Amino acid sequence: MDRVKECKGKPFLTDTNTLYRGMRQEAVSHLTNAYDHGFAYSVIDAPILIADGLRGNSAVTVRIDKPLFKTVSIARDIHMADVLIGVTHFTGHELSGFGGALKNLGMGCASREGKLSEHSNISPQVKKKTCNACRRCLTAVLTMPS
Ligand code: SF4
Repeated sequence: MDRVKECKGKPFLTDTNTLYRGMRQEAVSHLTNAYDHGFAYSVIDAPILIADGLRGNSAVTVRIDKPLFKTVSIARDIHMADVLIGVTHFTGHELSGFGGALKNLGMGCASREGKLSEHSNISPQVKKKTCNACRRCLTAVLTMPS
């Protein structure tokens, strides 16, 4: 915070609401949770903004023209910021094995709609041109833990 202020910036901490139910599913609980964990203005010397608003629907559609997504839904206040500094910690993640800066920024900057799109596209898909009908994928799906 001090360094950003030295550079004439106006720092704030930010996060987005989660897709799943919990203490970060909407902004009021999210902010209360942050304060309960010590992220009060008097401690961090900056405000906290929940970047996708009260219920996670304050968003901007951004065109990226990539193979999986042509557009993404980004939290409006992150999109409006001049600079984003990632303060990432390493976590376990059930789909990717671990989560670091790329996962945290890629998913964390998305609005609720954006997170929903990211999660809806993770099912295995059959490539018809190369599938030889060995059926091993059926066994794998049937033995996946629920
Ligand atoms: S595992 Fe076998 S059946 Fe399943 S998609 Fe691959 S090649 Fe096709």
